Amino acid sequence: MNVLQARTSRGAGETLKVRFSEISSSGSRYEISEIPVPEAGRDFGLYVPAQATCVLTRKSATRVLLQGRLRAEMILVCDRCAADYRHAVDNNVQLILEVPDASHWQLREIEYSRGDLDTIALREPVIHLDDIFRQQLYLALPVKRLCTVDCRGICPCCGVDLNIATCRCSRVPVSSPFAALAALKKK
Ligand SMILES: [Zn+2]
Ligand SMILES: [Zn+2]
Repeated sequence: MNVLQARTSRGAGETLKVRFSEISSSGSRYEISEIPVPEAGRDFGLYVPAQATCVLTRKSATRVLLQGRLRAEMILVCDRCAADYRHAVDNNVQLILEVPDASHWQLREIEYSRGDLDTIALREPVIHLDDIFRQQLYLALPVKRLCTVDCRGICPCCGVDLNIATCRCSRVPVSSPFAALAALKKK
């Protein structure tokens, strides 16, 4: 593989942009030492900056293959007991980045919006690596956030964390819909 360039920095307020014309057909390597995540803190926290490495390979004038790796240490809040917990992400990422033919643009847009995550349609032959990996970070968020698979949650009656204590409330199983209702009423 022809390693052309490793980029680790960008100017203030800039995003990491790579033009198709800069990308080698035998592979160009890029590193992002800190994926900018302005929204972090709302949906999730990060122990250390999320990082990515990737190799971009030009397949044609309008198609680039991205093969990369995304690493992050997220701080999530458990859906059942509301405690913070650590969620490690170490994902391989493979994407085709393509500038669709202008005449097919509308058709393709519909096609891509139906969840074909393996191909990303670009409006111009420029790859915004920060945006691509930020999106991948969001995709790496678990649907159900649990500190442990068998987290017992919080008692909906008295608020005791059932992972560390027991309580004397008449017990409605935590997983029943009534427990969820009781928890709502408490709020
Ligand atoms: Zn929990
Ligand atoms: Zn209780």
